[in-house]
Parts: sequence; structure tokens; C-alpha cells
Amino acid sequence: MSIWKGVNFTHRFSELPSTFFTYVAPQPLDSMRWVVWNGDLAQQFGLPKHASGELLNVFAGQTDFAPFAPLAMKYAGHQFGVYNPDLGDGRGLLLAEMQHQDGTWFDIHLKGAGLTPYSRMGDGRAVLRSTIREYLCSEAMAGLGIPTTRALGMVDSNTPVYREKMEYGALLIRMAETHIRFGHFEHFFYTNQLGEQKLLADKVIEWHFPECLEAEQPYTVMFERIVERTAVMIAYWQAYGFAHGVMNTDNMSILGQTFDYGPFGFLDDYDPSYICNHSDYQGRYAFDQQPRVALWNLSALAHALSPMVAREDLEAALGQFEVRLSQKFSKLMRAKLGLHTKVDEDGRLFEGMFELLNRNKTDYTRFFRELSNLDTRDSQVVIDLFTDREAATVWLDLYLARCELEVDGCGHPVTAEQRCGQMRQINPKYILRNYLAQLAIDKAEDGDFSEVERLAEILKHPYNDQPEFDDYANLPPEWGKKMEISCSS
Ligand code: AMP
Ligand code: MG
Repeated sequence: MSIWKGVNFTHRFSELPSTFFTYVAPQPLDSMRWVVWNGDLAQQFGLPKHASGELLNVFAGQTDFAPFAPLAMKYAGHQFGVYNPDLGDGRGLLLAEMQHQDGTWFDIHLKGAGLTPYSRMGDGRAVLRSTIREYLCSEAMAGLGIPTTRALGMVDSNTPVYREKMEYGALLIRMAETHIRFGHFEHFFYTNQLGEQKLLADKVIEWHFPECLEAEQPYTVMFERIVERTAVMIAYWQAYGFAHGVMNTDNMSILGQTFDYGPFGFLDDYDPSYICNHSDYQGRYAFDQQPRVALWNLSALAHALSPMVAREDLEAALGQFEVRLSQKFSKLMRAKLGLHTKVDEDGRLFEGMFELLNRNKTDYTRFFRELSNLDTRDSQVVIDLFTDREAATVWLDLYLARCELEVDGCGHPVTAEQRCGQMRQINPKYILRNYLAQLAIDKAEDGDFSEVERLAEILKHPYNDQPEFDDYANLPPEWGKKMEISCSS
């Protein structure tokens, strides 16, 4: 029986005028082989759980496959605050759309597929190292419940690709409800193609925000939705300690999903000024700058939408960014501490916590996980995470006293067991620490992909205790904390 039976494809972006993209055939790589095939995700699209040569030929663009029409999208964007008109899919191709079992259409995008008209000085390729990082992190984010693009699989090859040293070309099969970025709107605005821009907005509304059609000002509501979704995404990043590293407007999805994983990093020691991008000399994209930068990016999008939406409406929507962000952030942080009701002194408790974490450079993920284990473990485990144990004891006593005031929806006191049980559903035991990714990459570069697969499996269930993998929840070794992630990919 055909493996494609019951798998639904479409390709709505290819129906747009030719000013939106260029058709480009993927350029083959030598001796391609699967690194991983995401069987669980594949099954959600009706595809086989196990990788095969046929799947490789189709998804890596080796055979003509009728539903696919590979194309490179044209977009532009602000990179580190400077407008660059010359962007577009320089090494990625949109193959088609495939329908998820819940009815949603997902783009199938091949990253690393060779030269396109938008490659500029690049070679159109992606190396194994960066492909593994994107695969692992996008799947880890999905496991955590943070809005993100997904990864269906990853392919390695024998084709040499030159970065700081000789490496090998790889391909990522990326899935996302859209690959439309802020930069798509900027492109049409700055080239004064306002008809195309309006068409793009109409399609975005039709495909992703159909509820806007009923509004009096559909484009205004579309922008409000984008602001809202971006705010929610940033709240997740800040609450989970995720630093993206390259928040250029061409890396911002209009659906508020974490997009284009480069030199990202999760905080190890709590350090709000953490810069994960080795080339970000000014710290523009430092961890604590992300909310501000997201608003800056939304303002760039607002400017691009100014021919379609009244200035006051754009400003009003932008004004909602901070409100939405703090609402969501505060909700997430409250859940992380197991405090759902509100008490006047809570602000002080939160401030005290961040001050303590910052001053002691305590491991961010471990701290919350240990707080979530206080139903069965001694509080000394938490105190031992701090160098200033006296201050940590004072804070913890306050926190535990505050927990006593917590009541459920019916007014019954919340037990430590109940509180901690819920907290373990939001405070992960496992995150993708840079050093874990690096160990998997080192093995993969020697031809052993087992660690990539294992890590991906563990990170699918980051909130579960997986005792056989306790080592993966360890604090990073010193070398692992100081890793510099190259921007080259
Ligand atoms: P990024 O920094 O990965 O978001 O990419 C920014 C722009 O550079 C996009 O237009 C990419 O398509 C393009 N690009 C990045 N790497 C390459 C490459 N190796 N070859 C061609 N284009 C690239
Ligand atoms: Mg990009």
C-alpha cells in the first residue's frame, strides 16, 4: 500500500503572484542518509512512524513528487536594527503544505537545500551541527509547550561545506503553520508594492486569522493578533529562560512561534544579561532585552502596515504588547511557584527571588524544579543551590509561609503534594542545555546519531521524572557554561 495514502497536501503559497517567490529545485547532496525521522510527529500527518528510502527521496527533494513545488520565498527585514532589502529564502525551500490530523495545514520547508536567487554571498547550505541544534531545540520547545516551529526529520550527507572548518551539508525538514515573517510585509512596503502587501494580508487573514473577516477593520485586528501572539511567545521565553539570539524581523513569525534557531541558549546560571550570540557585541539580543526588542520588531511591522492601518490603531495595538506580556509572564511565574491566588506581598516575594537568583547565579531550571519537589524532599536541597544560604533560607521560609495561604477554587487549602504535583508540570526537569546539544553533535559528527535520538526522546517529556536519564538533568560542567556558540550555520 502506498505510504502516501491518507496524507493530504496543498500548496497555497504557490498560488500567489510570482513577485512573492521563485521556483527553485533543491540541489542534491552526496550520499544522503537519515539522522533522525520524527516518527511521532510524522504519524500526526498520517506518515509512517519509521524512516525509509522513499521518505528520504521525497522529503530531501531527490525525486519529482507531484504535490511538491519547491519555491524560495522573498522577504526582507531588519537585522540588528538595520534594514536589509535583500533577504529571502537563501538556503530554504517551501515544498508544499501537509495536513495535520487536527485539520491544521503545516508548511513543509527544507533548510539547506542549495542556492536560490536570495542566497547573496552564501552557499545555500546548512551544516550538521546547526541542523541538529535546530532539530533538538524546536522539538524541546514543543515538549515544553512553548509556541514553536517543528522538525519532521534531519538528513546528513558527504557533501563538504566550508565554515570555520570543513563540515558536511545537512538538511532540516521544518514544519510550521506558516513561514510568513514580519519581513514579508516589510519587503512589500519598502518596495512600494502595496497591492501585493494587501494581498498578503488578505491571505494571512484567510489562512491564519479567519475571525478577522468579521471585524470592521480586519487589518487592524490582524495586527492586534500578531502583537498578542508575539507577547505570549516572549512571556514563555522569559519564564523558561530561553534566549533566541537573533531576533531580526526576518526571524519573527507572524504567528508568534519561536522561529529560526541559531545561537540560542537556555539560561544555566540565572543571569539576565546573558548574551547567547557570540557575534552580538552590543548585547542587543541579550536575554533581558528580548521584550524590548520584540516591541521594536512589532513597531517595524506596524510601520510597514501603515498604508493599511490607521496610525492610532497601530499605536493602540502596540500599547497592548506590554500589558499582554506581563499578564502572561505573571501567570506563568505564579504557576512556576504554585501560587495561583494573589496576596499583596507577592510582588516582594517575586522581587526577592529574582534578586537572590541573580546575586547567587543560581541555576534557573534546577531552582524551580527543586522547589517543585519540596513535597518529598528536604528544603536544604533548595538552600544548597545558593552561596548565600542565609538569605536563601529567609526567602524560602517566606515562600513556604506564603504557600500555606494558597487555596483551591473551592476555598480548600492546597496541600504541598497538590502544589508540587502541579508545579512539576510547568518546571521542567530536562532542558536542552548547550553542552548536552554539543555532546550529541560531537558523536553525530563521528557518524553516531544515537545521542541525538536519545536527547530528542528525553526532551519530548521534559516534565516527567525519567530516572534512567537522571544524568541529563545534571548541572552543566564548567566548560558547558562557557560555550560560545558560533553564528555560522
Ligand atoms: P539567518 O541568519 O539564518 O536567519 O539568515 C538570514 C538570511 O541569510 C536569510 O535570507 C537566509 O536565507 C540567508 N542565509 C543564511 N545562511 C545562508 C547560506 N549558507 N546560504 C545562503 N543564504 C543564507
Ligand atoms: Mg532567518
